Amino acid sequence: MSTDIEQADVVIVGARCAGTAAAVPLARAGHKVIVIDKAKFPADTMSTHVLVPNGVQELQFMGALQKILALNPSRSRYLTLHDDDGLEVKERFTPFSGIDYGLCVPRDQQDVLLVESARDAGADVRERTGMTEVVWRDGRAAGVRCKTREAEYEIQAKLVIGADGRKSRVAAEVDAWTPYRASKNGRGFAFRYVDDPRGEDAPSAFQIFRAHGNQVLVLPSCPAGRTLVVNMTDAAKIPGIRADPDASWQEMLDLDPALDDRIGDATNLSRLIATDNLSAYYRRSSGPAWALAGDAGHFKDPVTGNGMRDALKFGRLLGEAAAVTVHDPAELDLALRDWEAARDADTISTYHWGNRESRPGPSTPLVREVLRTFSGNDAPNLSDTFNRARPVEAIITPGRMLKGLVNALRAPDADRRSILREVVAELPAEIGARRHRLLDGFRSTRSAGTERDGWDVGSGQPPSWRPAAIADDDRATPLAGAAQSAAL
Ligand SMILES: Cc1cc2nc3c(=O)[nH]c(=O)nc-3n(C[C@H](O)[C@H](O)[C@H](O)COP(=O)(O)OP(=O)(O)OC[C@H]3O[C@@H](n4cnc5c(N)ncnc54)[C@H](O)[C@@H]3O)c2cc1C
Repeated sequence: MSTDIEQADVVIVGARCAGTAAAVPLARAGHKVIVIDKAKFPADTMSTHVLVPNGVQELQFMGALQKILALNPSRSRYLTLHDDDGLEVKERFTPFSGIDYGLCVPRDQQDVLLVESARDAGADVRERTGMTEVVWRDGRAAGVRCKTREAEYEIQAKLVIGADGRKSRVAAEVDAWTPYRASKNGRGFAFRYVDDPRGEDAPSAFQIFRAHGNQVLVLPSCPAGRTLVVNMTDAAKIPGIRADPDASWQEMLDLDPALDDRIGDATNLSRLIATDNLSAYYRRSSGPAWALAGDAGHFKDPVTGNGMRDALKFGRLLGEAAAVTVHDPAELDLALRDWEAARDADTISTYHWGNRESRPGPSTPLVREVLRTFSGNDAPNLSDTFNRARPVEAIITPGRMLKGLVNALRAPDADRRSILREVVAELPAEIGARRHRLLDGFRSTRSAGTERDGWDVGSGQPPSWRPAAIADDDRATPLAGAAQSAAL
């Protein structure tokens, strides 16, 4: 095995959303950036892939948007919600940077173009290259050891960025593996791709169907005419879904006639992919000459559709902050800490909202009435929660909740006791989320009412990198996306 040592300004582990977004500004500023990933792209990963305009603009910032649009994805300009008691919401997305549509491009197709954009900017992206350990000098991260099938070598750098996802080996190496706050997710995801019965005339909308405690997303995908259907259901149902995917699919359609009407006639169904491993968390994400970007540092319930947006945005901001400080260790460490604090301030509302939304079970009369306050006008309110135009607490305001409460209590068949019990139970969560955003300090560990015990982000240490992991990634490639639909 070779024991060569190479020099770089920055080494980044992970070449998807966070890693490529961080690499672009660093490389554009003229720094020597090496990005390593154990995968060979195109490669799929366990993820659906909604991006609303606020996230799509990040693709534009990194120079990937035109390449992605060349894949002919559907552009979704609306968010709609249909509840089984007849509630209908339709809102047009608030535009960002002139972009008024969302995208939903399978990860194998999208991420290979992110890698291409990082290379276009000047980053040296190395595939099939795994990080095995972080190298330290004088208490500072000083590089990584990496391994390919043929060689093992060291890359020395002034900054090590872990953009290596939820099972971040970098997080373990910098002793940040165990989150300082986390929440168990009560929901699981089961998703598949279908040929949309409405073809290229499918509504230009990300659609949410709610019925009997299930939430199903219908997401026009890529190429136009291919659609992603995501069943966000009780996590306890995931083993049953895995055991009999077709029966669970039919059960999902039977629960909701409106959903059945929308996609019941879909054809060319891909296999159903399911997971119940979705605990939300924050890890300590910066230290001497290291940072954890994207899921390596923070993850939240994917129902929020914001994981990629945050990985792209805070990857970019990390790259921009490091681009001007990387040669000064003291300045760099301060910039990394400020970056982490800014990420937390920006993401905390959505984290708590995701925790609330990831409780399984049917909508209560109170929740339905609060949701009903969004219907009847076209203003982007509910969609702004996904689009991050405002913090969630500025959208689901006390006034809106009070209006929902009054309407729920006034309903002719209202069970007023149970509604009031729910108010008492929910208050700590509402107050805790607001307190956390406005008052609690950096890396606060004071738990808020939205958080649930029993979270699990793995067994304390991620699995060691080994060549077999490459083979796993390769096998993942045909799981999703339009390109492989015919085979499924
Ligand atoms: C079921 C599910 C559904 C989701 N749906 C959505 C959605 O609709 N919209 C949305 O915005 N977000 C969604 N997310 C979240 C989204 O997937 C993540 O937030 C996003 O992928 C984070 O990007 P990342 O770059 O941080 O990490 P990742 O995408 O996880 O990439 C990490 C990379 O690091 C590499 N790597 C790992 N270890 C090593 C190592 N030791 N050496 C070298 N390379 C390594 C991996 O090969 C991988 O390529 C979903 C997540 C899940 C689980």
